[in-house]
Amino acid sequence: MSVLETARKIPAEGPICDHCMGRQFAKLSTGLSNAERGRAVKLMLAMDADRIFKEEGNSDVLKELAPSCSNARRTLSRDDRSEDAKCWVCGDIFKNLDFWADMAVQKLEGLEYRTLLVGTKLSGLLAENEEILWEACGAAYAEQLKSELNREIGKIIAAKTGKEAALSNPDVMITFDIAEKTVDISVRSVYIYGRYNKNVRGIPQTHWPCRDCHGKGCEKCGNTGKQYPESVEELMSIHLIPMADAEGAAFHGAGREDIDALMLGTGRPFVLEAKAPRIRSIDLASLRDAINTKSDGKIHVSDLQFCDKKVVERLKSEKALKSYRMKIRFDEPVPEALLLEKLAFLKGKEINQDTPTRVMHRRADLCRNRTVHEAVLESVDGDVAYVRVLCDGGLYVKELTSGDNGRTNPSISGLVGVHGFVEELDVINVDIDAGLSWKIKDNMLKNSSSKTASFKNNIIQKQHHSKTTSFKNSIIQKQHHSKTTSFKNNIIQKQHHSKTASFKNSMLQKQHHSKTAS
Ligand SMILES: [Zn+2]
Ligand SMILES: [Zn+2]
Repeated sequence: MSVLETARKIPAEGPICDHCMGRQFAKLSTGLSNAERGRAVKLMLAMDADRIFKEEGNSDVLKELAPSCSNARRTLSRDDRSEDAKCWVCGDIFKNLDFWADMAVQKLEGLEYRTLLVGTKLSGLLAENEEILWEACGAAYAEQLKSELNREIGKIIAAKTGKEAALSNPDVMITFDIAEKTVDISVRSVYIYGRYNKNVRGIPQTHWPCRDCHGKGCEKCGNTGKQYPESVEELMSIHLIPMADAEGAAFHGAGREDIDALMLGTGRPFVLEAKAPRIRSIDLASLRDAINTKSDGKIHVSDLQFCDKKVVERLKSEKALKSYRMKIRFDEPVPEALLLEKLAFLKGKEINQDTPTRVMHRRADLCRNRTVHEAVLESVDGDVAYVRVLCDGGLYVKELTSGDNGRTNPSISGLVGVHGFVEELDVINVDIDAGLSWKIKDNMLKNSSSKTASFKNNIIQKQHHSKTTSFKNSIIQKQHHSKTTSFKNNIIQKQHHSKTASFKNSMLQKQHHSKTAS
C-alpha cells in the first residue's frame, strides 16, 4: 500500500497531530522528525483532497482532514486561522514536553552524571489508542508512541542539563509515569575493582548478621545486629559511602577466606559497589589511602580502578588457583619422611569432597572434585607441621587435612594414618586467570565506547582518513573553509570540548550519517 493510501485512512479515525501522523511513517526516509513527516503527509493529503474537490465537487475528504490540517481548513474557508483540534491519539502530549522535562531536571539537581536515558510508562488509554490506529491503518512503518516520547523528552532534558543521551549503560535512567504524572530517577552503581589483604585473624569478609537475632539487634550482639563488629567489606564501605554520597555499598569478592585465615600475597580481587551514588568521580587514591590508614593495618587495598558491572560476574565465575599456608596439629608426632611421601603423592590428585559438615547449614550437600596442584612440607616438629598447598579454588583445605570423617578423599590425615587438623590457615595468593587485571581495563574501554562514542570515532576516522589520503583536498578545504569541513569540525569540537554533546548533536550526527550512507 502506498504512503498516500495508508495516510488517507488516518484522518477518518479522528483529529491527529503532526507527531502522531508522522510517527506512522517513521521508518520511511531518515533525517526527519516525526512532526516534519506528519506535516508533509498532511500537506500531501490536503492537496489530494483539494484535487478531489475540484475534480468531483466532493468536499467530504477535505472536511474529514480539516480538524487536523490548516491547509485543508483554508481551502474550505480562506480566513480560517483556527488551531488543530486536540489529537485523539496522544491527547496533545507533545505540546507539553517541557512540563515532563522540567520535572526530571528538577529531580536531577545535585546529582553527578554524564549520560542519561529516558523511559516512559504510558497510561492504558494512550497505549490503546495507538493499537486502535494500527488496527485501522497498519503499522508496517510506524514507531511506538513511547519511543518518540522518550527521544523527544530526552532531547529537551539533554539540552537543559548539558548532558548526553546514551542507549547503553546510562548513568541515570529517567522513567516517567504518564498516568501518575511522576518521574523516577534510578542511578547506576559505581563499581570499583581492587585487591585486598587481610592482616589479622577474626574478621569475616562480609558483614554477618547476628546468629541469635538475624540482624534485628539483640542483647547478645549489643543491638548491632552483627555477629562480628567489623568485616573487610565494612572497613572499605565506611569510606566509600560518604565519598560517593551513596545510599549503600555492596562487596563482591573472588571467593572468600575463613574468618580466622589471613589473606596474604598479592591480595584477593574484589569489586566494591557504590549504590545510587550522587557522586561518581570518586578519587580512588584518596579512597585507597582512607581505607589503608584508617583500618589500623587490619586490611590493605591496592590496584583500585573503576570497572564495569560485568567484572562482578567474572569474579564469581572465573576459575581461580589458590595457595594456602597451613599449620597442622596431629594427634601424635608424624615422621618427616612419611609426611614428605604422602604430600608428594597428593600432587596432581583430584580430591572428592562432600560438603564439609561445618558448612552444611549454608551450602547444599554435594560432592565436588577439585585438584591439588602442589602440597609442600615447609617444616615438621613433633606433632606440628607447616604445609603449603596450591589447589583449585573451592577446595576446602581444612577438610583436605582432617578428612572430615571420610567425607573428603584422599586426605592428609587418611594418607598419613594419623588424625590432624588445621590450627592456622593463611591464604597466600588468589590467582584469577592470570590476566583479569588487563581484562578489566579492556572491558572499561569497551564500555566507554557507547553507540555515540563509536559514532564519534567513526566521524573522526573519516575525517582523519580524508586528511591523510587526500592532501590536496585537505589543503583546499583549509583554504576555502568549506562548509562541510567546518560543519564536521564543529561536531567534533563540540564533542571533544565538553560533556555537553547533546541530543542536538546526535541528531546532527544522524543526519550526517544518512548523508554519507546514501
Ligand atoms: Zn498526537
Ligand atoms: Zn543479635
